[in-house]
Amino acid sequence: MPIHICSTCGTSYPNADTPPPRCPICDDERQYVPRGGQAWTTREKLAGGHVNAWRQLEADLFEIHTHPGFGIGQRALLLRTPEGNILWDCISLLDEASETLVRALGGLRAIAISHPHYYTSMQDWARAFECPVHLHAADAEWVMRNDPRIQHWRSETLEIARGVTLLRLGGHFPGGTVLHWAQGAGGRGALLSGDILQVAADLGRVSFLWSYPNMMPLSGATVRRIADTVAPWQFERIYGAFPGRQVMAGGARAVERSAARYIELLEGRQP
Ligand SMILES: [Zn+2]
Ligand SMILES: [Zn+2]
Repeated sequence: MPIHICSTCGTSYPNADTPPPRCPICDDERQYVPRGGQAWTTREKLAGGHVNAWRQLEADLFEIHTHPGFGIGQRALLLRTPEGNILWDCISLLDEASETLVRALGGLRAIAISHPHYYTSMQDWARAFECPVHLHAADAEWVMRNDPRIQHWRSETLEIARGVTLLRLGGHFPGGTVLHWAQGAGGRGALLSGDILQVAADLGRVSFLWSYPNMMPLSGATVRRIADTVAPWQFERIYGAFPGRQVMAGGARAVERSAARYIELLEGRQP
């Protein structure tokens, strides 16, 4: 029996002869069911037509991205630390080359994921590398394939290796998480942000939405709370969910400036 994968969001479902009738992740207003209706693929079909491409973003940070584009199109990031490698966010395809390369780099110490849109095939990655997956408990209802390696954390921060801390910001999802990497950007700090802080086209701004595909905003109070929650943390760079989307300098200032402008616009102060 195959593992069925939603073609729109990349979420994997328990193995069964036929795919489930619907994908709750895509039925939600933060995603969408395409015009042609719910579509499915399998792990085998996905691996037959796609490969993962790797790019080194800085000395200890690699991007892993599936080609041709699949699902939402996010990247996973592999972060090297003296205590082992962390996979930040996840993608549906674990191809043979990626498995060999991750093993050559020393395997994985842990997987951490920003929010349910990127849960994808986390169960397969965790099984292959025999490591835990850290997810915030506030989003537990969105796990579509239970696995003993999934560990739900409940606090506001969780240090998963020295200088690697998960921060719960909420917003797009109640358990929305970013990863603070103290040694990133040559020791000036980096934030791996998924969709929780979305690096914008201008690369000097971030944005914050409840629903990205349906373009629905967050409240001003939520955006203010997110900005205030990250304010005590030092970071120069912000690596967003998609290839090419990173703020390379002045990351902390970019968050504060972007949040302030967002709230001004919600309050009607526009040119
Ligand atoms: Zn889906
Ligand atoms: Zn999302």
